[in-house]
Amino acid sequence: MTGPLGRVLVAGLGVSGVAAARVLLARGDTVLLADAGDPPARAELEAAGAIWLGARSDCPDDVDLVVTSPGWRPDSPLLVSAAAAGVEVVGEPELAWRLRAPLPDGGPAPWYAVTGTNGKTTTVTMLEALLLAGGRRAVAAGNVGRPLVEVVTAVDADGVPEFDAVAVELSSFQLHWSSSIAPAAAAVLNVADDHVDWHGSPTAYRDAKAKVLARAPFAVGDAGDPVAAELVAAHPHPVTVTLDEPVRGQLGVRAGALVDRAFSAAPAGDVLVDTAALQVSGPHNLTNALVAAALARVAGVSPADIGTGLAGFRGGAHRNVLVATVDGVDFVDDSKATNPHAAGASLAAYPRVVWIAGGLLKGADVDPLVAAVAPRLAGVVLLGRDRGVLARSLARHAPSVPRSEVPSGDDVGVTGVTSGTAEAVMGEVVRAAAAMARPGDTVLLAPAAASMDVFTDYAHRGRAFADAVRALH
Ligand code: ADP
Repeated sequence: MTGPLGRVLVAGLGVSGVAAARVLLARGDTVLLADAGDPPARAELEAAGAIWLGARSDCPDDVDLVVTSPGWRPDSPLLVSAAAAGVEVVGEPELAWRLRAPLPDGGPAPWYAVTGTNGKTTTVTMLEALLLAGGRRAVAAGNVGRPLVEVVTAVDADGVPEFDAVAVELSSFQLHWSSSIAPAAAAVLNVADDHVDWHGSPTAYRDAKAKVLARAPFAVGDAGDPVAAELVAAHPHPVTVTLDEPVRGQLGVRAGALVDRAFSAAPAGDVLVDTAALQVSGPHNLTNALVAAALARVAGVSPADIGTGLAGFRGGAHRNVLVATVDGVDFVDDSKATNPHAAGASLAAYPRVVWIAGGLLKGADVDPLVAAVAPRLAGVVLLGRDRGVLARSLARHAPSVPRSEVPSGDDVGVTGVTSGTAEAVMGEVVRAAAAMARPGDTVLLAPAAASMDVFTDYAHRGRAFADAVRALH
């Protein structure tokens, strides 16, 4: 651990802010808390000595460091005022990096970092499974699982760190506020339009993603994603993954198996696992598996252990989960497809789809997605506030595909929907989709949009979908 950090202002008391405040208080630093709401952890932190500032818009002069929540935009008045006063602003991952506890044999546990627009959580949880299969005391942390600051300072009764390898998920927001994180290897899965509103421009978003590679000795990326491939190619030790047969320096797919030709000494490479043994579906999950495998290879996990770990890995909730097969139609929940890029990957996994889409599009351009997936569509059911944007795009690119719209979002309870609840909206959506599907089709919830206009979050949307599917019987 480093010496005292002084007076630290924690801006935003979400999960990572609370964890940061707790760790700082335990170290004896002075902690100030700023949050516009009345967060549940306030009383506990105040009892431990934290100073409550409430909805503060300027940074007090005597603050040495600001730890900001990923939810705060860079142009928030308090952060702007900190920058103007020359006070350093970091995110919780950067703070965690600075506070890592050393292992008995020397340095702190290495980080293996993953970023990208889509697939981060899946890849990081796969990587955790591979590191565990390789006998490491590993944990997935960051934007997934436990906050990093908690993981890197967790020690047992003898003061030995609980973990010796960390699979780290880093969002573009977190990367924006980091400056010294140096993972042992880092991966950029893909870079598509998302969160451009937060970052201000596509270039700023891409630059945030690129930051993760800058200090890593190995850079891993998907050769099939133009931006990721370009970012990785600029690195001195590039490793790419491909769904084609890999060339030297790549991991890829050969004769129905995942093969490593980047870290293997054998000219033909090492076979990791047969794709038929995997429990996750869709080409995008092969990409995720190959990226996780590359990072695990850097961590020293053997090809055999990687194979075992991948075969044992079950996908995450609301990520391409088959909910039920009703009258020969598969109903798949990919509620986590919250942007067009993710929905595109999902749709590519099924040949004939009744697509359930719509919600908050966050300003994303849906035309390229709609044009690309049009040939697979057996029907479309639209919901959510921005469904009109999708309807207009479908009218341009897939005019003959049957389409129905379920009023929801802003107009819940105004037209069409009687009870006005999220569950009622989803019930109507699923019945409309079932009516369009014929045996062999997949009804796919991959909304390409965020859910908060109608649902609490993507998990609520996924649960409502599953409940509505079960009600079809
Ligand atoms: P993230 O943590 O980046 O949001 P997840 O692993 O939770 O990523 O996956 C979110 C969604 O993105 C999935 O439900 C799927 O639709 C899509 N997805 C997953 N992996 C990829 C990938 N490699 N490329 C494109 N889309 C993907």
